[in-house]
Amino acid sequence: MTEQLNPFKMAQAQLDKAAKKLNLDPQMHAFLREPMRELWVSIPVRMDDGTTKIFRGFRVQYNDARGPTKGGIRFHPEETVDTVRALSAWMTWKCATVNIPYGGSKGGIICNTKEMSQGEIERLARGYIDQIWRFIGPEKDIPAPDVYTNPQIMAWMMDEYSKIMGYNVPAVITGKPIPLGGSLGRGDATAMGVVYTIREAAKIVGIDLKGATVAIQGYGNAGYNLSRLLAKRGCKVIAVCDSKGGILNDEGLDYEAVKEHKNKTRSVIGFPGAKQITGEELLTLKCDFVIPAALENQITGRNADNIKAKVVAEAANGPVTLEADEILSKKGVFQVPDFLCNAGGVTVSYFEWVQNIYGYYWTEEEVYEKLDKKMTKAFYDVYEMAKRESVDNRTAAYMVAVDRVAEAVRLRGWV
Ligand code: GLU
Repeated sequence: MTEQLNPFKMAQAQLDKAAKKLNLDPQMHAFLREPMRELWVSIPVRMDDGTTKIFRGFRVQYNDARGPTKGGIRFHPEETVDTVRALSAWMTWKCATVNIPYGGSKGGIICNTKEMSQGEIERLARGYIDQIWRFIGPEKDIPAPDVYTNPQIMAWMMDEYSKIMGYNVPAVITGKPIPLGGSLGRGDATAMGVVYTIREAAKIVGIDLKGATVAIQGYGNAGYNLSRLLAKRGCKVIAVCDSKGGILNDEGLDYEAVKEHKNKTRSVIGFPGAKQITGEELLTLKCDFVIPAALENQITGRNADNIKAKVVAEAANGPVTLEADEILSKKGVFQVPDFLCNAGGVTVSYFEWVQNIYGYYWTEEEVYEKLDKKMTKAFYDVYEMAKRESVDNRTAAYMVAVDRVAEAVRLRGWV
């Protein structure tokens, strides 16, 4: 069988599987299979050398039955509308799983920020808002950071939107720097959410977090913070990698020293005292937890059978393909599916939006406490569904989410 690696086709096939189990009305199913709206934009950007370059971008608003749409913006050289569509669908299911009052959306710009100056990136960020501002807003669609975007880029985007509106609109975008209305705890919220789901998965599978071994694919915001937070809980992070390759030390890696090394050399590879491995080898290491925290399509029909971890916690969006799901499920690997596992980011984004609208700000402890409650509740909503319906955790997560979205669609009288 040739595996389907188009992320949107994969998202649709995952939905189909859950729809069948839910006995979903065929018209509702047809409606939930496609995005409600998408916008394609061309962004002219004055480059440092005086030329004008045209960048292509997208914003896909998948479904807004449960509230304004919510989702990050990716800057990626290989961005495609199908990836953005898939990610906007996953945002819809993610917000429904953690039960926050949002629909789902996603944005993307085809660009390589590694080859751009800060000034060029700023003009691109502002140019994107100039194209999409009519379609976003605190009550309509609220962007946030994602792959290769960060709080500074959110600040420029919020500023551009506020200038167009003529007043300050912090709630138009989340993941902002703290002085501009960002929430305490948002920086490591995705990693913190992953840790809460890992804590619960460990209880179910019977792993003691003290001394548990972990391999993390990716050493960006999520990957580094995961290493730090898991090490604090007594886990041994034995391997990490980035796009250039990976490192392994069975005794555990010093996460701060690895970060320093990466800052200096732009990669984790060559870290003293560690064995060099490939990203592919990292995924199939013998360990308790393997955490894909980079991009989509990493565990596929090709390597799923070699996975030796007891738990796969999907910190990235879409890292495990459908074919791999079947294989992992047969092997008895406990999966924490992506839109449950990595929902901590958008959950604290929701808290940020609430604080912006309120104009009243919470302490870091309050944020983490509320995040823990949301993530733990969502984890058990999914786990109970999986047990009750005898389905894998991903199908169960879909069943929880789709049921909630479909109910909102029905109540509105759309289908
Ligand atoms: N980009 C993150 C995600 O995929 C966060 C989205 C948000 O905060 O709106 O969940």
